[in-house]
Amino acid sequence: KRIITTEIMDEDNKIESTLRPQLLEDYIGQTKAKENLKVYIEAAKQRKESLDHVLFYGPPGLGKTTLAGIIANEMSVNMKVTSGPAIEKPGEMAAILNNLQEGDVLFVDEIHRLNRQVEELLYPAMEDYAIDIVIGKGAAAKSIRLDLPRFTLVGATTRAGMLTPPLRDRFGVVNRLEFYTVEELREIITRSAEVFQVEIDEDGAYELARRSRGTPRLANRLLKRVRDFAQVKYNGQINKEVADFALDLLEVDKLGLDNMDREILFTMIEKFHGGPVGIETVAATLGEDTGTIEEVYEPYLVQNGLILRTPRGRMVSDLAYKHFGLGKESS
Ligand code: ADP
Repeated sequence: KRIITTEIMDEDNKIESTLRPQLLEDYIGQTKAKENLKVYIEAAKQRKESLDHVLFYGPPGLGKTTLAGIIANEMSVNMKVTSGPAIEKPGEMAAILNNLQEGDVLFVDEIHRLNRQVEELLYPAMEDYAIDIVIGKGAAAKSIRLDLPRFTLVGATTRAGMLTPPLRDRFGVVNRLEFYTVEELREIITRSAEVFQVEIDEDGAYELARRSRGTPRLANRLLKRVRDFAQVKYNGQINKEVADFALDLLEVDKLGLDNMDREILFTMIEKFHGGPVGIETVAATLGEDTGTIEEVYEPYLVQNGLILRTPRGRMVSDLAYKHFGLGKESS
């Protein structure tokens, strides 16, 4: 697995629970989502009602789960966590819903992966706080309505486009999470270093931040790796030199690109003159699945302006040529 994957890795589990901010005011960045939530949370509290259902969408590791936890905290309720692929049968979802307490947050990660029957059970649950359960079989079957406590469904998805309209429409609050700026990541890293009780100077934090691909999960993972490194080689302190050395060793370059990113860009440059070229063609040349290239690798390259999406296909930008110290050939 790539060290820079933004999907959760085993090594993240331990650190993430200790690093998660618990309150909205400690959550760095995502100003728009934060301000939006603040208003809704305050209004719900004033009215002593449960918060409207909330949907977060955006790439992995940007803080969707963290925000769900913060919502529960700020509302002083419990959070129950599950995910789309974890629930196979409507009965399992019915049981989870039935066990919620008034006002609780039910966090459903990867909500676009709920199967159809489970999803359909959610419609009345979200809208009327009730579910219909079928008892018995065949002609004797009958449906009874079961009332639920008023709860808040917080859904998270990396692929908003894959949500069905009826599900999407049942969320009152929809927030898109953005990649973080280097400055925001620097703040997150500095805060995490405090929790880790490791000394890091401003330049060290900056170096880590700019190689973290706009993603707090990755920033924390890299910080942890660099910390281990600093402990063994440099009496525990992180400065730019240590960060540079450790990150170069991990093959994460100045823009946070790893070998696969570089391979994608090089393939486009060498085999397709930098484009425009269709994503399917690039994927086939690399022997990768188109969906994987599009969802896993490409977003950061596009966000960073290294790949441009044009109506005629993908193009490698001047910035990418510059990053690799290459001149653009004229065709
Ligand atoms: P997602 O659910 O979007 O995949 P998470 O909420 O699990 O992402 O975030 C991954 C980790 O990144 C968290 O454990 C947390 O430590 C850190 N994190 C995310 N967003 C922030 C933030 N805004 N401020 C500080 N740390 C954050």
